[in-house]
Amino acid sequence: MLFGKNPIITQTKVSEFAERLKENKIMGTKCKKCGQIYYPPRWACAKCLTEENEWVELSGEGKLATFTTLNVGGTKFEKDIPYTVGIIELKEDQNIKIMGWISNNIDRENLEVGMDLKAVPKTLEDDKITIELIKV
Ligand SMILES: [Zn+2]
Repeated sequence: MLFGKNPIITQTKVSEFAERLKENKIMGTKCKKCGQIYYPPRWACAKCLTEENEWVELSGEGKLATFTTLNVGGTKFEKDIPYTVGIIELKEDQNIKIMGWISNNIDRENLEVGMDLKAVPKTLEDDKITIELIKV
């Protein structure tokens, strides 16, 4: 399973992240020493430099922190334009931010910073998987 529409890395220590997305779970890593949670998952803690961590499931629920509409598509994104991406700050820790594609079910005129959204895995037609931000 590849994560993202245009993945450049196929295998990493955090490839389990993509596998869990198939089960509709968005995972982060949690440092066993200091408790810091990382999303995207990191294998080594930036605070204590330890590699002792565990997987934790994130709620995916949060508030929209910022968003933008792209009118020019990079490679492999040409047919998607215009599209809107956003970043939410998770309700359990606003320092944890998740970027995703804003769902087409949300009217662009109704988007506003601070609104409740939920990040969910979305399988694309070519069996790749990405993150979509939907209404709660
Ligand atoms: Zn740590």
